[in-house]
Amino acid sequence: MAEGEPKAAAPLASTTLALEASVQARTPMLPYGRHTVVEADIQAVVEVLRSERLTQGPVVDAFEAAVAEAVGARYAVAFSSGTAALHAAVFAAGLGPGDEAITTPLTFCATANSVLYQGAQPVFADVCPDTLNLDPSEAARRVTPRTKAILPVDYAGHPADLDAFLAVADRHGLVIIEDACHALGATFKGKRVGGLSHMTVFSFHPVKHITTGEGGMVTTDHQGFARRLRVFRQHGIEEDERHRDPHRPWYYEMTELGYNYRLSDIGCALGLSQLTRLQANLERRAAIAQRYHEAFGSLPGLRCPAQRSGVRHAWHLYPIRLESPTHGMDRAKVIHELRARGLGVSVHFIPVYWHPYYRQRLGMRPGLCPVAEDAYHQLISLPMFHGMGQDEVERVIVAVADVFRALA
Ligand SMILES: *Cc1c(COP(=O)(O)O)cnc(C)c1O
Repeated sequence: MAEGEPKAAAPLASTTLALEASVQARTPMLPYGRHTVVEADIQAVVEVLRSERLTQGPVVDAFEAAVAEAVGARYAVAFSSGTAALHAAVFAAGLGPGDEAITTPLTFCATANSVLYQGAQPVFADVCPDTLNLDPSEAARRVTPRTKAILPVDYAGHPADLDAFLAVADRHGLVIIEDACHALGATFKGKRVGGLSHMTVFSFHPVKHITTGEGGMVTTDHQGFARRLRVFRQHGIEEDERHRDPHRPWYYEMTELGYNYRLSDIGCALGLSQLTRLQANLERRAAIAQRYHEAFGSLPGLRCPAQRSGVRHAWHLYPIRLESPTHGMDRAKVIHELRARGLGVSVHFIPVYWHPYYRQRLGMRPGLCPVAEDAYHQLISLPMFHGMGQDEVERVIVAVADVFRALA
């Protein structure tokens, strides 16, 4: 039997619990996402470990410059996570108590939480039925005199309708903070994600396109935002000469309530090395998506993720949808069957305002965004990562076809 194939379970009658557990442990569950680390990455990290500086050193600057260059932005500021980067962007945009920011419910909770961190109110607007990205006209309907920002998310790696959001922002004087944690390397109408919105946020968590272990980045063309991002990352301490004193080298000024949200040189070395393979990673993900499209296009009850013309999709996720109500398949049952066949499928995402914190502490109720809620019941994320072997891709296709033919 080839490496990576699920092993048949041992006969139940003769197994102890321990043996059963060990059989299960050896059955490789194919995850929905996974990092790849190569020898050159390890060498890059070791080099930093042998150097003078483990943090606040030259590799941070080099990684920031490389990401800025890769996405076509003037500035890039590294953070300890994508979540810290989102928080900093919300701070840099000037949000505080009494302000509102509009975002999508179909995202990881960190997007909306970052608004709460600054004491402002997240306002959820519904998504487009095809891409499941925040719908610009729904967002525009939720603008009030208190709205300061919109946080669109490039769901699954498909860029949000950025032209439309920038037009809404122009009309109302808002800041667009694009959560592009799924979309490093994506393009929208020929322009790179990262250089389009007022601020764009990336994550380098291991399930994303490149990793630093934990890490994130904000890219922007605006010097003022870049300055505020840097201050916020470092306790609110000013870096600028005007806040220093040539006669007192120890002197510095803290002017804002910031955090320690720095990314270390160790993480940045890994990120710099990983970044050299970004285009290859994107191409591999696109090839897997293409193969899935071909294989699933004719399966009853299954809808493949949409791609609008004029975008390069980054394929962070491959979320299929059950075509209900015509087929009436039970999503929980489909997931159970797929997992029984060794596919570690997942769901992206539980609508954020359904979480107990949002219901109990903020008084939000189901029914707010019906398109997103309907989609939530249909979504299943299949394995999608650049390190997938062709045998693993084919394994997914066989299992999915098997389950959908049996249940349809
Ligand atoms: C991963 C992710 C985040 C958070 O990034 P971390 O680096 O894990 O903090 C935020 N938003 C979205 C949409 C994400 O996928």
